[in-house]
This record gives sequence, structure tokens and C-alpha cells, in this order.
Amino acid sequence: MQTRIEVGILGATGMVGQHFIKFLEDHPWFEVKWLGASDRSAGKRYRDAMTWHLQGAAPDAVADIVVEECKPGNAPRLLFSAMDASVATEIERAFAQAGHVVVSNSKNHRMERDVPLLVPEINPDHLKLVPGQQRERGWKGQIVTNPNCSTVVLTMGLAALKPFGITKVIATTMQAISGAGYPGVASMDIVGNVIPFIGGEEEKMQQETQKILGEFRGDHIEPLAARVSAHCNRVAVVDGHTVTVSVELSAKPAEADLRQAFEAFTGVPQERCLPSAPAHPVLYMQEVNRPQPRKDAERYRGMAAFVGRLRACPVLDYKFVALGHNTVRGAAGAAVLNAELMHTEGMLD
Ligand code: NAP
Repeated sequence: MQTRIEVGILGATGMVGQHFIKFLEDHPWFEVKWLGASDRSAGKRYRDAMTWHLQGAAPDAVADIVVEECKPGNAPRLLFSAMDASVATEIERAFAQAGHVVVSNSKNHRMERDVPLLVPEINPDHLKLVPGQQRERGWKGQIVTNPNCSTVVLTMGLAALKPFGITKVIATTMQAISGAGYPGVASMDIVGNVIPFIGGEEEKMQQETQKILGEFRGDHIEPLAARVSAHCNRVAVVDGHTVTVSVELSAKPAEADLRQAFEAFTGVPQERCLPSAPAHPVLYMQEVNRPQPRKDAERYRGMAAFVGRLRACPVLDYKFVALGHNTVRGAAGAAVLNAELMHTEGMLD
């Protein structure tokens, strides 16, 4: 590609906004040209509008961009959204109405009937919902979302097992503190501790999993008819959400069949060699004590899911562990991969 596509970031000054900026540095297709945030930041150069929370410093290419208010007008057509959930609904809709392609990381539109909740390796056909947004809502643009950071780990672990007929899932998370944004959980609460509650997280994991693994039916998604139960916990890990999963499968496959399914799992991003696609979306690890967040979350640029410890479950049929990078595959990297898929579908033209 000779000319890169200009992109903007809504909520560019926040934690996820900074992850977008870092992930898009040197991207071969997309170039960050516009930054939006609240009126507290508008009018300031990016370097003065935020405190950089990631390693190193904000890239020079964006440091002098003057932040604008999140209103349609000057922004490029393609926008990544990392806006505070309290304001994302109306602002993202306004941009979609005005003709922008909004690739959002916020929770606000994920469960809407005509909005794809996309994991490109699992449900690329859910992009077929988008024409309904234009037909029913009269939008000139569109909104596409990526899942919650723990849901993406669970669904990438489950996707390979879908052909065996998933009927019940029990998932328990050990979620990193970076998933709570900045400053997140108080150190006095989390150091040497486990917090067995993350507001709204269990409901999101249950509903989003059924939608992502569901089937496109003309103008809506028929959710996966499996019962999903999630227990969500915050633990003293910096990056990387670990999920332990028990699953019931109607086909009653042999353990070797499941292992083979994990190892063979691949998708459209790999076929099309999308720039942010990991070579293998799911890596099955043979070691008895892996995956582990500190050793594995950053591998493959944080874009793969790591699965291990597959074994029989005395209550359901099988159990295993899945791990993924919550701020990369669970946030900025997921949205960028979504936009790459949309580009190869001609949706950014
Ligand atoms: P954050 O650090 O609080 O950043 C929020 C961003 O929204 C800032 O850029 C802020 O701009 C902007 N904003 C606030 N009010 C605004 C307004 N009225 N108009 C326009 N912009 C406004 O939050 P975050 O942790 O990055 O999370 C952002 C979104 O991603 C949330 O929806 C969150 O649920 C989701 N998410 C977060 C994570 C994570 O790991 N943190 C993971 C997955 C999804 P100012 O700086 O000017 O206030």
C-alpha cells in the first residue's frame, strides 16, 4: 500500500487511547492524523494534554497534534474509539451518522442488534450486520465493536471447540489490574490480594460470548444456545487476563480431538496476512504450568491467545486454561485488527 489511510482516535488521551497510539506507531496501512478528547484537553498539544502511562514516551509523530473536541467536522473517516463509556453512546452515534467508520473499544454499542461484536478469526461474517445500520438508522457511516478484554480470551479459547457443540461453559477469570484503566484499583486494595468482583463484567462475559459465537441470520445474530457462567476476579497481575474454563460439548469428543482442534484453529486474518494478525491465533502450550501472564502475554505482540492444561472435567466434559493480553488483544490491538479486516472487505473505501 503506497498511501496510508488517515485515522483518528476518540478518547486519545486516556489509557486505551494511548495503547492505540502505541499500537498504530509504524502501522503499514494506518496513520494517526487526528486526536479527540474532552473539552478539558481540546486545544492543547497531545504532549501537554495527557500524562503518558506506557513505556517510553508518546511517539513524536503525534506529540504535537492539537487535540480536538469529539465532534464531527475535521476528523478522518476512520476513527478508533477509546472514549469513556459515560459519553461514548451519543458521540459514536454522531460520528456514524456523519459518515465516519467508528471502530470502537467501548462497551456501549456491543450488544445492539445491528452492531457487529467482532473477533476476526471467529465471526468475520458478522460484518454483514453493517448495511442494516445504514438501512434502519439512516447512518452514512457505521459502528463496529470489539469484545470486553476477558470475553475475547474466553471466546478465542472456545472458538476451536464450537464444531463439537458447546452446551455449557463455566469460566473463572484472574484479571490484570491494567484492565481497570489508570489509576485503576488502589494499591492498598490489590497488592497481596484478590478482589472477587468487577462491576458488570460477569454479565458482559456471558452475553458477549453468546453473541460472538452466534450465527448471522440475515439481519441479526442468533446467540449461541449455550449456558455461560462467569466468575470475575481482579488479581495482582499487571498485564494479561487468565481464564480457567470448564466446558460441556454435545459431541463428546476425545481429548485428542480437542487438542488437535486448538492446534489447527486459524481464521481469515491469517489467510489474508493482515498486518496485526498473529501467525497462530491460538497457541496450545504443552507445558503443565503454562500459560502464565508474565511469560506469555506479551508474545506475538500480545495478539494471540494461549491455551493449555486441557484435561477431563468431572463436572462438565473438559477443562483448560486460556490467557490473553487485555490491553492489546482485549482493547487497542483488537480494534486495529477489526479495521484491517474491514479494509480487506472494502468497507473503508
Ligand atoms: P480513560 O483513561 O478514563 O480515558 C477516557 C477518554 O475519554 C479520555 O481520552 C477522555 O478525555 C475521554 N473523554 C472523557 N469525557 C469525554 C467527553 N465528554 N467527550 C469526549 N471525550 C471524553 O479510560 P480508558 O481506561 O482508556 O477506557 C476507555 C474505554 O475503553 C472505556 O469505554 C472502557 O470501558 C474501555 N476499555 C478499557 C480497557 C482498559 O484496559 N482500560 C479495556 C477494554 C475496554 P480527557 O482526557 O480529555 O478527559
